[in-house]
Amino acid sequence: SSTGEVSHLCLLVYDVTDTAIHKQSLKKANEELAILSQTDGLTQLFNRAHWDKCFLAEYKRWSRSQHSSTLVMIDIDKFKNVNDKYGHTVGDEVIRHISGLIKHHVRETDICGRYGGEEFAILLSDTSLSNAHVFAERLRKEVSEAIVIYNDIEITYTISIGIAEIDESIKSHGAWIECADAALYRSKETGRNKTSLHPK
Ligand code: GH3
Ligand code: MG
Ligand code: MG
Repeated sequence: SSTGEVSHLCLLVYDVTDTAIHKQSLKKANEELAILSQTDGLTQLFNRAHWDKCFLAEYKRWSRSQHSSTLVMIDIDKFKNVNDKYGHTVGDEVIRHISGLIKHHVRETDICGRYGGEEFAILLSDTSLSNAHVFAERLRKEVSEAIVIYNDIEITYTISIGIAEIDESIKSHGAWIECADAALYRSKETGRNKTSLHPK
């Protein structure tokens, strides 16, 4: 009152549960959306755009700390034949199969992406060329021995691999890709189902 005496108290209670739940679900939806925008739909590996971003970040990290880091590029051999012979749905199943094997073989810190249609890029951080070679050969052999079963069809396939470890002679992240690509090209040129290294 005007005399300063308290004669009544008013207590207001607002139920903000709906707002809180709405906020929470919005946050969750945004997080899911962020993951979705980085992921390739067919393989659940990183998509090209996100992989490129991670790759550039790794190159910059290497420029500062010079730790070992190795890039592995993979291309399925004669994949057009798979599509032509069995159809694109079976081709997609083969792409999913190799993606599953890649996921099975890498460590949590490795960065795996679908680089193109049937091309994959794996960045093995803190890994030397020789250790990456062991990884690549294990994967290549497992692929060559695997049988993909789709309905009643049994498909076998192989992959070619190119590997390049970053070093001072490689002046940009683009040049790093070119080195791995050149090694991959050599695997194709010399008969496929092979792993080639940069430098030779
Ligand atoms: P090479 O051994 O020289 O690599 O022969 P290749 O037939 O695999 O040749 P290339 O790598 O150029 O062929 C890529 C083929 O992959 C062409 C395209 O039809 C197919 N492809 C690309 N993306 C997809 C996809 O998402 N699904 C399916 N099923 N096929 C795809
Ligand atoms: Mg290709
Ligand atoms: Mg190919």
